[in-house]
Amino acid sequence: MRTLLAAIVIFIMASPIAVEVHPFVVVWDIGQGQWITIVTNNACLHFDMGGENRLPPVRSLCLNKRNRVYFSHSDMDHIKFLPWGATHLPHLCDAAPPLDPMNARKKRLIASVHLCRSPLNTNEVKIVEITPSINNKTFKGHNDFSRVFVVYGPDRAILIPGDSTATAERVWSKRLEQLPFVQILVAGHHGSRTSTSEALLRRLPDLKVSIASARKARYGHPNPEVVARLRAHGVPCLRTEIFGNIGLAL
Ligand SMILES: [Zn+2]
Repeated sequence: MRTLLAAIVIFIMASPIAVEVHPFVVVWDIGQGQWITIVTNNACLHFDMGGENRLPPVRSLCLNKRNRVYFSHSDMDHIKFLPWGATHLPHLCDAAPPLDPMNARKKRLIASVHLCRSPLNTNEVKIVEITPSINNKTFKGHNDFSRVFVVYGPDRAILIPGDSTATAERVWSKRLEQLPFVQILVAGHHGSRTSTSEALLRRLPDLKVSIASARKARYGHPNPEVVARLRAHGVPCLRTEIFGNIGLAL
């Protein structure tokens, strides 16, 4: 009996204790670009995998999880680190390929990760895609074909609009009226003046904070007009350039 008890104690002590995590989001400080990771107990959900010239410390967070990537569109500042992700993030698959037209180089880059064959392996968060129809004739350029996602956690939701401009915002923001409220906004197109329109902000009545993933010296993002529009709604704009990697509970 004593031997059995000792064996059980040794077994318990040798087993790694899995620490339960409350789902959270990290907007990585990668300069001008976008890489956002939502971490749950068994999955890491990446929204784009781009940035300028430094990798975020994402590997240690996502090493023992299944990894999925959802692309907004195919600009290099959103897809550049995909080859790194393919070799360093376990079971990485592509859950949402870009919808904008791509040249051969970008097509090859995107094809380096296979499409996800299984559904999302967690019910800790819920992903709702509100991307408008890509046949809409009023859309111009790659940015307006950005895929748009809302991710709902147990307590709050984050809106990730890629590089959508006000033209596309006018279309997809209507969907927000049928959905539960959003509290966190990743400023569209890194805080460019042509995004985060008044029309969008009016459809986010419970918005508490916005985040600009940008480097001011590159394109002047976030634009002061956007910061002022947000402030008029009582919403602060956090900048990755100032705060570094920004993590928030969902
Ligand atoms: Zn961009």
